[in-house]
Amino acid sequence: ATPISLVIASGKLARRGVVVKEASALESLAKVEVVLLDKTGTLTEGRPCVAGMQPAPGWSAAAVLKLAAAAEAESPHPYAAAVREEARRRGLVPPAADNRIEWTGYGVAADCAEGRIAVGGRQLAQQERWSGMKRAEDFAAIREAQGETVLFVALGRDCIGALALGDRLKRESPEAVQALRMAGLDVWLATGDSAGPAAAAAREAGIVRWKGGMLPEDKLQQIRALQRQGRVVAMAGDGWNDAPALAAADAGFAMAGGTDAALDAGHVALLRPSLTGIHGAIAASRLTMRNIK
Ligand code: ADP
Ligand code: MG
Repeated sequence: ATPISLVIASGKLARRGVVVKEASALESLAKVEVVLLDKTGTLTEGRPCVAGMQPAPGWSAAAVLKLAAAAEAESPHPYAAAVREEARRRGLVPPAADNRIEWTGYGVAADCAEGRIAVGGRQLAQQERWSGMKRAEDFAAIREAQGETVLFVALGRDCIGALALGDRLKRESPEAVQALRMAGLDVWLATGDSAGPAAAAAREAGIVRWKGGMLPEDKLQQIRALQRQGRVVAMAGDGWNDAPALAAADAGFAMAGGTDAALDAGHVALLRPSLTGIHGAIAASRLTMRNIK
């Protein structure tokens, strides 16, 4: 039977917006040593906006944005919402598109009258061997150094431009990270975003160990590798790209407002958008487990 103290602790946490799905998660929480944090939507607001654009020669920013918005029309990714919002703000109506595809952790593509449009990160551009990347890459180097995320846009295999997206840390993120470190935990940032934005977010949040360019599978393998070293690992994320890692972690924290896949995979749901609930849950668990023993 579940010790009554676990039930009481769960109730207290629930009132603070931390919902423990299984009592066993509350037990493993006390032993957690490493906390892996996703970036977009977890450490950051996850409401990025288009902060700058660089069309390829012969292209206007408006034309590139319109096509990008057509490809992103149905994607649930926060970057897709940012691209659509900027097009709307400029009064641009994206052309109709079909044959949509979304490569998790890479980007999207769709067919419209002009041809096949793709939008995604550097890995997508490299994998698909897009040409005419020079100007977009020069732009990306500058914007990524500022901590922005750059998306590349292609028509067929020709790069027609790049978009820079800015996203802010959640106000409580640095404080939440500090609380975890004070509790003796190792905090890691694991993101699908590239090195520039990863480093900038880590620096701002006070995280020493970070890794960018991680696919969903890489986040999962990172957790498994730590577990093989005998370490007890918690993971926090919001996206479907985080779901495999959330399920594999000893304690998976899913941010409410994220995707259902993450909520299903996680063991603990954070109903408030901030990360402070992670420290709260670990502290409550340590206290409870001490009382049980
Ligand atoms: P994070 O770990 O920061 O939440 P993701 O794994 O969701 O990031 O995405 C990793 C990278 O894949 C993004 O930085 C972006 O370059 C690309 N990407 C993923 N989905 C999309 C999309 N819908 N549109 C454009 N690019 C995308
Ligand atoms: Mg995310």
